[in-house]
Amino acid sequence: MNKQIIKKRKLFSYVSIFVLCVGSLFGAVYRCAKLVEKNYLEQLEQNLEDVAFQISQSLREQIEIRYELLKSVAIRFDIEPEKRLENLYMFEPVTDAFRLVRIGFCDKNGISHATSGFSADLRFREFFKRGMNGETYISDVLQDAMDENHDHVTVMSMPIHNRAGEIDGIAAITYKTEYLSDDISSEIFEGVGATIVISENGIVNISSNESLINIHDNLFNKLFENMKDENISRTEIVNRIIGGNYRERNNYFTLIFGNKEYYYDVEPVNIMGEKHVWYAISLVPKEYFAARFRPTKVNLYRMLMFVLIFGLVSIFLVEVVSMHQRSLTNRMAYVSPLTGGPNTNQFFNILKRNEISDGFMVYMNIENFTNTSLAIGKGRSNKLLKSTWNLLALEERSDDLFCHNQKDSFLLYFGNINEETLEKRLELLRDIIHDEAISEHISWVNAHFGIYKIRKANRLEDASHKAEIAAHDVHPDSKCFAYFDDKKQKRQIELQKLEDHFDEALNAREFEIYFQPKYNSAEKRLTGCEALVRWNYKGKKMVSPGEFIPMLERTGKIVKLDEYIFERVCEYQSNWKKSGLKIVPVSVNISKATLFLDNIEEYYCSILERHDLTTREIQLEVTETLVSTSGSMANLLNRFRDRGFKILMDDFGTGYTALSTLNLQCFDTLKMDKSLIDGIENDFGQDLLAGVIEMTKKLGYYITAEGVETEEQFLFLKALECDDIQGFLFSKPLPANEFALRIETPIHPAA
Ligand code: C2E
Ligand code: CA
Ligand code: CA
Repeated sequence: MNKQIIKKRKLFSYVSIFVLCVGSLFGAVYRCAKLVEKNYLEQLEQNLEDVAFQISQSLREQIEIRYELLKSVAIRFDIEPEKRLENLYMFEPVTDAFRLVRIGFCDKNGISHATSGFSADLRFREFFKRGMNGETYISDVLQDAMDENHDHVTVMSMPIHNRAGEIDGIAAITYKTEYLSDDISSEIFEGVGATIVISENGIVNISSNESLINIHDNLFNKLFENMKDENISRTEIVNRIIGGNYRERNNYFTLIFGNKEYYYDVEPVNIMGEKHVWYAISLVPKEYFAARFRPTKVNLYRMLMFVLIFGLVSIFLVEVVSMHQRSLTNRMAYVSPLTGGPNTNQFFNILKRNEISDGFMVYMNIENFTNTSLAIGKGRSNKLLKSTWNLLALEERSDDLFCHNQKDSFLLYFGNINEETLEKRLELLRDIIHDEAISEHISWVNAHFGIYKIRKANRLEDASHKAEIAAHDVHPDSKCFAYFDDKKQKRQIELQKLEDHFDEALNAREFEIYFQPKYNSAEKRLTGCEALVRWNYKGKKMVSPGEFIPMLERTGKIVKLDEYIFERVCEYQSNWKKSGLKIVPVSVNISKATLFLDNIEEYYCSILERHDLTTREIQLEVTETLVSTSGSMANLLNRFRDRGFKILMDDFGTGYTALSTLNLQCFDTLKMDKSLIDGIENDFGQDLLAGVIEMTKKLGYYITAEGVETEEQFLFLKALECDDIQGFLFSKPLPANEFALRIETPIHPAA
């Protein structure tokens, strides 16, 4: 379930990242497009401005040149008012030079005289009226009244004066309007743009594109007509165009001609000595801009698509590669290479993720796997582990989690189960695993289980460790599982401390020797004693051998201890001997590991010699089970016996092979184990002991009874003529000085 949530979250974050990326990409491209569009527009505005400015410049030049001419003509007329006609003909050549239609003047009645020779009544013409009013004037485009072609012309006029300085007529020059527009290229913006020139009142004097607007039309009126729908007033249009506020920030007003919108720019043209203003306007259709910008836009969006597709493909590839990588890493980190199931890491991860705080941790071990591996080969034994895993996986329920741990061990977690059911399931597992092994002809393979009940405060790793410790407690002859024992573990820790401290303890002489006297049953006379070791651990507490001997035997350190005790016992014996005591033989316990050392008998003899002792004064105790396990033991013991040592068989009557070992004839004394002595309290035990003693005595063995605690036991043994008695009834093991006192008084006080 958790996995699904993680997957969903992951997907969500991927989708979010993707949407965010695509969103910001679109945003970026949109901004980019807007920026490019703005740049384009600014560029366009600049171009329009340049065009309008050029027109205005050229127009101004054209008009001002002619205005200057007009002024000189007027001055000429003013200088000699009576010779105006004659002077007029003087200007004839100038007419062509200035590309004029004619130069002329009107008298105060409006009768005109022109270089072309025509004369007409122009009383009602505006330029006449204005001139007579004293104004300098430039007409809007007119149709030439003096020419049958009625060409478009522009007339410039100014007043002329008589000698009294009164206005008595006007001087005028007329030129073809088309000459004005000569310099104005109509080929702007690849022919789709247009330029027009209007006068203050909106009349079009020049139009580079008459399909747009005709010369002589009124631009303001025309625009007003076109833009009526936009709820725009004529004044506003006039203001926009000649008021200079035709453009607001980032908002391009457009002009509409027909159904086409145009971007435009206006440049005022001050003419006639700045007495009049015309306006040069450059125009370009909005769609021209759109058409020019479209490819850029398309390219931008193509680029976006490309980046998107590229991005998607990249993300896809990265995801595929990283998925592959992830699964590889996951496999390495979380999958057992042997079984293909989860490994220990993954096992703990899952349990932790599920916040496990109860259930059972079970450590499953395949018994004797190392030997199995040696017997059937690595390949087959691995196959066996794999099929074991397959069986486990089949038995795994929804509350369980199993994994392969190490080599021949598996960790099994069982949730939601009681002990009884758990034990049944474990027995079932043992059976199916055993059956599988049998089918593979590996009949000796068995599984056993260590169980630890998980509590809230437990770390799961600790739980598995404890389950493993519990698995060591499974006895081959009993159940296939064992529960973790807390006390046992504490003991284990204590033992570890002892082991770690052993070498130091030897040097610090922490091992002390106690002597337990043996008395003969007939007279209660001291006949010998057994040396028993005690560990005065760091001078703090006495540790009995039952606690540390098995550990020393397991680690092999017992050899050192045996040697040390033998040496110390010899020391005591020789001291007592030297002090004149009538010493008795002391038996020293010797372990199997020591017996197997090369030339050990020689070495022990050398110790005896060093202390001026003989084999009559030191005996050796060997446990019966040691002997029964190996026939070669008899040879080793006989090597000691050959040197004169007496060998005592310790704990006689506890093992299985006791009787057959008698046949080996490598002992002098049999020490009847305490368990046989304790049997005296019932008839069968009495008969058994009586039979054993009678038989062994008959075979010539010297008999010592161990662990004699009661008078009843003593009397019974005495009646059977058991040779020696050792037990608390007569004495506990004693410290050396106390035992020395016993040597001094060889008869037991109770005798
Ligand atoms: P063990 O050789 O059978 O020693 C006899 C044990 O029985 C001693 O225990 C002794 O104290 C105890 N015992 C004697 N009489 C009685 C009695 O009447 N009632 C009861 N309940 N117990 C009695 P301890 O000293 O604890 O020694 C335990 C074992 O440790 C010994 O068993 C022996 O196998 C081993 N051991 C002791 N000292 C040495 C040693 O120096 N070297 C080696 N290798 N083993 C030693
Ligand atoms: Ca003993
Ligand atoms: Ca014993």
